[in-house]
Amino acid sequence: NLPIVVIAGRPNVGKSTLFNRLVGRRQALVSDQPGVTRDRKEGEALMRGRRIRIIDTAGLEEAAPDTLFGRMRASSESAVSMADLVLFCIDARAGITPTDAHFANWLRRQNRPVMLIANKAEGKAGTDAALEAYSLGLGTPLALSAEHGEGISDLMGEIVDRL
Ligand code: GDP
Ligand code: MG
Repeated sequence: NLPIVVIAGRPNVGKSTLFNRLVGRRQALVSDQPGVTRDRKEGEALMRGRRIRIIDTAGLEEAAPDTLFGRMRASSESAVSMADLVLFCIDARAGITPTDAHFANWLRRQNRPVMLIANKAEGKAGTDAALEAYSLGLGTPLALSAEHGEGISDLMGEIVDRL
């Protein structure tokens, strides 16, 4: 019964890159289940000596409902309901999109602890978006770069503190 951290957000914000960064080679538990949960990847991360289950929500393109938000909600709903902590990711280079805002509204109503992640913020990129992200009402955004590995150690510390 490890604590469960779910990575959520619209396509292309860098969820899978963050998943791989957190899980590293400990992907023995990765399971692609057929049907609704297709492409949902699970792995185990070690953070400050604690084992944590990480779930990467995906498969949005294959889900049935009409709108992008509908697909996000459908693919995230069961994972979010199990989450001890949700990492809600935005793309700091793209800024906040209407879909991000819509999903954030839905997420706030799920009554799960959420950490707001402003990804793709390597160097000084994304500073404006990180500020803008306060308006989502999900607390202080944590700027990082999953691809370049910047801010990951801080993220792990925050996750462990929040669990
Ligand atoms: P997902 O659809 O949310 O799972 O996003 P992916 O992890 O597949 O990443 C989408 C794209 O964003 C890929 O081309 C990644 O290489 C890129 N990406 C992910 N993280 C970063 C980052 O920290 N900085 C930049 N510049 N690009 C990133
Ligand atoms: Mg992905």
